[in-house]
Amino acid sequence: MSRLVLKFGGTSVADMARIRSVAGHVKREIDAGHQVAVIVSAMAGATNQLVAWCREAAALHDAREYDAVVSSGEQVTAGLLAIVLEGMGVNARSWQGWQLPVLTSNAHGTARILDINGAELLKRFKERQEVAVVAGFQGIHKETGRITTLGRGGSDTSAVALAAAIAAERCDIYTDVDGVYTADPRVVPRARRLDRIAYEEMLELASLGAKVLQVRSVELGMVHNVRIFVRSSFVEAQDIDPHATPPGTLICGEEEIMEQQVVTGIAFSKDEAQISIRRVQDKPGVAAAIFGPLAEANINVDMIVQNVSADGATTDVTFTVPAADYQRATDVLVKAKPQVGYERVDGANDVAKISVIGIGMRSHAGVAAKAFKALAQKGINIRAITTSEIKFSLLIDANYTELAVRTLHSLYELDDK
Ligand code: ASP
Ligand code: MG
Repeated sequence: MSRLVLKFGGTSVADMARIRSVAGHVKREIDAGHQVAVIVSAMAGATNQLVAWCREAAALHDAREYDAVVSSGEQVTAGLLAIVLEGMGVNARSWQGWQLPVLTSNAHGTARILDINGAELLKRFKERQEVAVVAGFQGIHKETGRITTLGRGGSDTSAVALAAAIAAERCDIYTDVDGVYTADPRVVPRARRLDRIAYEEMLELASLGAKVLQVRSVELGMVHNVRIFVRSSFVEAQDIDPHATPPGTLICGEEEIMEQQVVTGIAFSKDEAQISIRRVQDKPGVAAAIFGPLAEANINVDMIVQNVSADGATTDVTFTVPAADYQRATDVLVKAKPQVGYERVDGANDVAKISVIGIGMRSHAGVAAKAFKALAQKGINIRAITTSEIKFSLLIDANYTELAVRTLHSLYELDDK
């Protein structure tokens, strides 16, 4: 017998029929003899509606009341699922964040989980084979006793944190896709579902905008070594063979991955803008004068490339920002011109960042060089390059995004046969 956490997102609990189907999955695991805690999201669209109402109530509203409102979506689905389970003859009880409790920081709207008390759940698993249905996304601040929420998509993090707290063998994330792919299947029709992916790789993918999991949930999984299994909630419970490994992707430690490929996946983002500052004075303090004001303006800077000075006096600095912040970033730099000292600012809004990820890069040389050659053969110009231990990213013209992603996908032998 093992202990499992099952998490169901908004589309998986979108209406009563979907909630019944979820209950079927829970019952299947109970019948197989497991102890089960479930984390639920709000019904699809419910949180958006609650957020919209807060804004309508007052454009500037108290974050404590925002949390009181937006946490309510999960309360509804937790209660409903418990009712449906009871109706199917499965012992179940719903739990709000404050009831366990899930203790968090005081950062309303983006709170961090500090501790979860799973003692009562464990007791009830043992004494009454009771399923715990826990509202995701929410917690309580220790000192003030106010309800907090974890940021959009936060119920993934609730699930992984709960799995750590009750030492679950696995945290199953049931969602509207059946796993993590080598690339976005809408762009690369020959993308493959990965059987396994290492935490670090998934962290890169999630940070690059793969929507499957909240970034923080992957971080937490890595820290606490929680095995996370991404699988589809659109398969009915009765269609699952209890003896076979279901389709899905296991996010786990490297040591659990036997067959190591050099490259695991390719991600891209079109929401990038490039800014180049020309003929910046090449002297100490200049980088601080550029990036300090951008940070103060809350603009996230990503790739940064500084050229070696040609004349010993000036250099060029290139970096990327989210496309939505392009204009604001340019304004900040114009204002900072006297402190920085440069000739002009150039920029481009129609650029894309392509990232190639794989822990195998640590032990293989020349992985990026192969990409440069392949892209050159397709006539794709590379505007900037950054590398880290398990990833390299290339900035290119957005028009070439699809071509570049497909080219690299074949190059690194990721195509489905
Ligand atoms: N319901 C919350 C949201 O929509 C939390 C979640 O679904 O993970 O962001
Ligand atoms: Mg989600």
